[in-house]
Amino acid sequence: MVTAGPAPRHGPLLSAPRRLLARVRDVMAGTDAADKRLDEVVRIIASDMVAEVCSIYVRRAGEVLELFATQGLKPNAVHQTRLKFGEGIVGDIAIKARAFALAEAQEHPNFAYRPETGEEIYHSMMGVPVLRGGRVVGVIAVQNRTQRNYTDEEIETLQTVAMVLAELIAGGDLFRITDGTDIDPETVRPVRLEGLMLNPGIGMGQAVLHVSDFHIEELVGDDPDIERGRLVNAFAEMHGSLDELLADEALAEGGEHRDVLETYRLIAEDAGWLKRIEDAIDTGLTAEAAVQRVQNDIRARMAKVTDPYLRERVHDLDDLARRLLLHLMGDGAIAGGRELPDQAILVARNLGPAELLDYDSEKLAGVILEEGSPSSHVAIIAHALDIPVIGQTRDVLRQVDDGDVIVVDAENAQAYIRPGADVVEAFENSVRNASKQKVKFAELIDQPAKTVDGVAISLCINAGLMIDLKHLSEWDADGVGLFRTEIPFMARSKLLGVDEQTRLYTQVLDQAAGRPVIFRTLDIGGDKVLPHWGGTDGENPAMGWRAIRVSLDRPALLRQQLRALIRSAAGRELDVMFPMVAEVAEFDAARALVDKELARESGRGGVMPSKVSVGAMLEVPSLAFQLPALLAKVDFLSVGSNDLMQFLFAQDRGDARMAGRYDVLSPIVLKFLQTVVEHCDGAEVPLSLCGEMAGRPLEAMALLGLGFRRISMSPASLGPVKAMVRSLPVAPLSAFVRGLFDLPQHSVRAEFQEFAETHGVQI
Ligand code: PEP
Ligand code: MG
Repeated sequence: MVTAGPAPRHGPLLSAPRRLLARVRDVMAGTDAADKRLDEVVRIIASDMVAEVCSIYVRRAGEVLELFATQGLKPNAVHQTRLKFGEGIVGDIAIKARAFALAEAQEHPNFAYRPETGEEIYHSMMGVPVLRGGRVVGVIAVQNRTQRNYTDEEIETLQTVAMVLAELIAGGDLFRITDGTDIDPETVRPVRLEGLMLNPGIGMGQAVLHVSDFHIEELVGDDPDIERGRLVNAFAEMHGSLDELLADEALAEGGEHRDVLETYRLIAEDAGWLKRIEDAIDTGLTAEAAVQRVQNDIRARMAKVTDPYLRERVHDLDDLARRLLLHLMGDGAIAGGRELPDQAILVARNLGPAELLDYDSEKLAGVILEEGSPSSHVAIIAHALDIPVIGQTRDVLRQVDDGDVIVVDAENAQAYIRPGADVVEAFENSVRNASKQKVKFAELIDQPAKTVDGVAISLCINAGLMIDLKHLSEWDADGVGLFRTEIPFMARSKLLGVDEQTRLYTQVLDQAAGRPVIFRTLDIGGDKVLPHWGGTDGENPAMGWRAIRVSLDRPALLRQQLRALIRSAAGRELDVMFPMVAEVAEFDAARALVDKELARESGRGGVMPSKVSVGAMLEVPSLAFQLPALLAKVDFLSVGSNDLMQFLFAQDRGDARMAGRYDVLSPIVLKFLQTVVEHCDGAEVPLSLCGEMAGRPLEAMALLGLGFRRISMSPASLGPVKAMVRSLPVAPLSAFVRGLFDLPQHSVRAEFQEFAETHGVQI
């Protein structure tokens, strides 16, 4: 809500836009009912802008704009006139999130005549979207009888007023006036949306729209000089912190990340950006509100741009605007992590893993994203937290309002917005079945993971958050087969130092209480961008400067991490593995750093680990051609099937259009993995697989048929996979798998399914 600022000063020295803004602010801070305040606002705007008409349309559920207040149109039209997004000029402003000024509105192809308004006598029209959190929540329009050419300043002024109004609309008071009385059922109808399953499960709850913006209390500034001074200071502080980032010892040499930071600094120094914010301050906004206004504007203008370079720049600017706001408002101002209802469905364009972690996961019943891909880290984290997620859900933000009831049926990649009673009942049935399944799996906890023909299988968990570790004992898992160390980094706002890392890894090992934990060294780059790292994306980030490549080029970072790992092990066993190893030489170089750090720790008299095992991840196919040499050097090998699939088939794991295009259950993958199993068995090197396929019962079954005896998965998959293991006769499966290697088809999924059915395997 808007808070009343100090007493207004309407001196003659105020510029025209500031005078208008101050008057609007006074009305908004008043105690009248929200609709009365809105009536007063349209009256003030119309008189100030010398327009015969000023109207405010407010977005209602189902992408509809409803006339909420007007000066000049027929009063009966209020709450009667409704326009869909895209309908009429007002709908066009909403759908494009762009201001429009037309000297002859009726000639516009989109003009939609509504007889109840009496607007046929008006010729010119100017309208601006009311934006909140990058989303259109309304439209303000003015109209004149004459063919008037509105100036850029007039558009700017209306945009500034729109920003203040956004708060009134978001406050929700307006809806209490009309709710339940006159809503066209069409506007609140149930909607079914389809997307892509990013993490399975079903959930029902109230929609919470994720706003990555800041909540700004004071929008209207009384003294532009003070606000300008604050802005200049914040700019200076921001430059200082960017310089510090650039001076960081670990980033001292050139490199792509450094280029990114340099570009950042150049954008930050861009005089045009500063000037636009200053201009917004001159219209009467506080420095914070001005930064946000300019950013809203840039985002809205760039929303339709598809050029990847330009989109990146908008992203950079967004990030810089956030930084600038942090400096203006101080830490702790970020809006994420707001209070959630007990059962919440989070709706967002996209989410970083850290942003998801900002919310109380206990209350998240589901997540719906407009973007997102199955192997992105937000999906992996949601998997660890067992939250159903669907991504690639087009237009969901436009169709959902805060508080709408939503059923997320990620199993079938669909969501029901404002579902009818039949859907709710079906959902409740599914929940009952799912909890029965859970009880069934829970009964397996104390049972050994042995096949029906007596082969013991080691089931481990993948982890990255402390909360994952509780599943180790809960499920009596054999250990952590993959600890993604970049995840704690992603959740922090700065790089972790040696001491902080030591504390963290010590906690992990304490919690694991003697069960082995394989720490994978930082795998940053690709989709795993650290907030403070600034992004390492090139043309093909997944194949670019990431994981061990970053670690070897920036040895300081890796050495610090190894130091922390060695110290945290102190007297206990330490297992470390390197991600994305493409050739033996890379493993050698990384292993040499382990030895250096061990020597350093022993030199300073620290308590050494009781044993150190160093392994590699097999994720890049090239490494498979050096297996004999590699296996002579590693203590263990772990297949990262997510990346392996991506590189084997040249299939971007982050591109939703590629999801499902190739099948992990294909003769190609089986044959590849069989070679790996044979080499490891021959060399007696322990082998495991820790990609997402290990967590899917049918795929996990195929792995056992290939000879894998250790697999590592998200904790949520342990139950279903254990049920599969305990119902599987592995000997006939091994024979069966051998018959599949040379088949020419795309997939042998159906064959595995048939095997499972005929042998009573629980999938
Ligand atoms: C993999 O690639 O399969 C893997 C386990 O690592 P990540 O998913 O973290 O890249
Ligand atoms: Mg990987």
